[in-house]
Amino acid sequence: MLVREDGNGYREDRVFGWLKARRRAKLLAEPFPETWRTLIEKNSALYRTLSQEERGRLHDALRLFIAERDWEACGGLEMTDEVKVTVAAQACLLTLGRTVDAYDHVRTVLVYPEAYYVPVEEADEAGVVVEEEEDREGEAWEQGSVVLSWADVKGDARRCDGRNLVLHEFAHQLDMGDGAANGTPRLEDAGAEARWARVMSAEFAALRERARTRGRGVLDTYGAEDESEFFAVAAEAFFERPRDLRRQRPELYDLLRDYFRQDPAERIRR
Ligand SMILES: [Zn+2]
Repeated sequence: MLVREDGNGYREDRVFGWLKARRRAKLLAEPFPETWRTLIEKNSALYRTLSQEERGRLHDALRLFIAERDWEACGGLEMTDEVKVTVAAQACLLTLGRTVDAYDHVRTVLVYPEAYYVPVEEADEAGVVVEEEEDREGEAWEQGSVVLSWADVKGDARRCDGRNLVLHEFAHQLDMGDGAANGTPRLEDAGAEARWARVMSAEFAALRERARTRGRGVLDTYGAEDESEFFAVAAEAFFERPRDLRRQRPELYDLLRDYFRQDPAERIRR
């Protein structure tokens, strides 16, 4: 899910480019920790579908991702390498064909041991606002934080069933990378934007119709909520059930393949 915030936009990255490049080069000169590789292999089903070359790129990206974020343990969780590596491996899968810089605006990752409760104000039928508690598995905040339930992160990462909390929340962050949570991430040019608008609006309409008629399909109907949820749900299906998505929604699959610069349906066939 997505949390919208008022405020004056993203905090600026004040670290100069050259300083960042030097820090990154130093970090990547170190060998990749063998214990991390073991943890990823154990926890990430999608990692096991990657080629050696892709794994190498993912290792580099996730080390930068981990080093450049604040990691906050909440609700009694102990922040371990396993937590960081499992989250980072999946977040960086989304940007494997592009660059991990797409997450520069994401500063903080907060992790709870399991689903957590958030007070929400809701109006009841009589219009009276009541305070209730809602349980959540994860949230992406507009100003650069992601909140996750570790139990759900791990459970989703270990199986490919179309649900993946980390892919979902970080797809929201890619969406918000251009400053707006509207289901459209930063795209190359006007041509790409026009294609995105055409394909996504048709696919979103189709999912809304399916949700209304309670039809079956590869996309979770939670994506019928709004455009940003649609993109997050489509990203989950693209990585977790690529062959089903390609067969059922070929135009959507092709659009996401070109955006992510990855072809997971072919990857799984290998
Ligand atoms: Zn969402």
